[in-house]
Amino acid sequence: MKKVDLVCPAGGFPALRKAVDSGADAVYMGFRDSTNARNFPGLNFDERSAAQAVKYAHDRGAKVLLALNTYPQPQSWSLWTDAIDRADRLGIDAVILADIGLMRYATKKYPDLRLHLSVQGSATSAEAIQFYKEQFNIRRVVLPRVLSLAQVERVIQNTDVEVEVFGFGSLCVMVEGRCYLSSYATGESPNTCGACSPAKYVEWSEGPKGRDVRLNGVLIDRYDQVESAGYPVLCKGRFNVKGKLDYAIEEPTSLSVVDILPQLIKMGVAAIKVEGRQRSPAYVGQVTSVLRAALDAAESNPEGYVAKSEWVEQLGRVSEGTTHTLGALEREWQ
Ligand code: SF4
Repeated sequence: MKKVDLVCPAGGFPALRKAVDSGADAVYMGFRDSTNARNFPGLNFDERSAAQAVKYAHDRGAKVLLALNTYPQPQSWSLWTDAIDRADRLGIDAVILADIGLMRYATKKYPDLRLHLSVQGSATSAEAIQFYKEQFNIRRVVLPRVLSLAQVERVIQNTDVEVEVFGFGSLCVMVEGRCYLSSYATGESPNTCGACSPAKYVEWSEGPKGRDVRLNGVLIDRYDQVESAGYPVLCKGRFNVKGKLDYAIEEPTSLSVVDILPQLIKMGVAAIKVEGRQRSPAYVGQVTSVLRAALDAAESNPEGYVAKSEWVEQLGRVSEGTTHTLGALEREWQ
């Protein structure tokens, strides 16, 4: 049976080191600009730190994937193509792309550069994946978190492109590559500027009714004194809809596939991805260690596999809202 890759986030060098030392088969990272969808202050790599990161990972047998998964803007096309040139110079193992113009640039200029289709590319069918394979020799696809388990299996059965699925971490409302909620309030979105809810637009204030958080002036949540608050994004705000105040779009919770690893392995998933380049090195180390142990157990004894309670507990502690879900994977009606 082919081993499943554990792909872990590296928002900076300390997180990359934690991921590699805790058993990641591959790490993914981005440059310090709007070419990647986690363009937050203090995160990401310049060329020098990226070279150190590649060396650290390669010396320990781990691969390095580069996320170039935003959509180039007309006025700054060369920012994105320069990033592809840099990836080739650095000896990156694969570039994760969403934009077909960049795929064309990469395949023409660097035919040996391995390309992965980002979740931002929103390919949910074997037909769409086949298109990217035929046109750009895409070697792996990261599936959007909108598919049920049966749908993931059907995709795998109908394509020979490797399939990567998300295994742990915060959930979007699951319209990867198509969400403009953040743009609606701020003019900036993950697809264009690399950040959902950019920090410069976030404003906290204490009021008589609780702690308010606004995004560019739009009230998106209000917390009482005892509630813990996560990073505010529009899809997980609480809104008044027809007189009912609630999470109208998505609840703040994390995806976790630790209970169903043998099923994913059996259906032929090539890689399991951990979300969270914006999270701390401690988070990356903890999640990577747990999933490493769980994946090893599921691969060596799929029939007897049971997710240990200490794994679930450890993951629960770092989950958004301290709860987890299988999300769309368990929506059988799909
Ligand atoms: S608003 Fe929500 S769904 Fe949209 S990109 Fe941000 S986190 Fe994802």
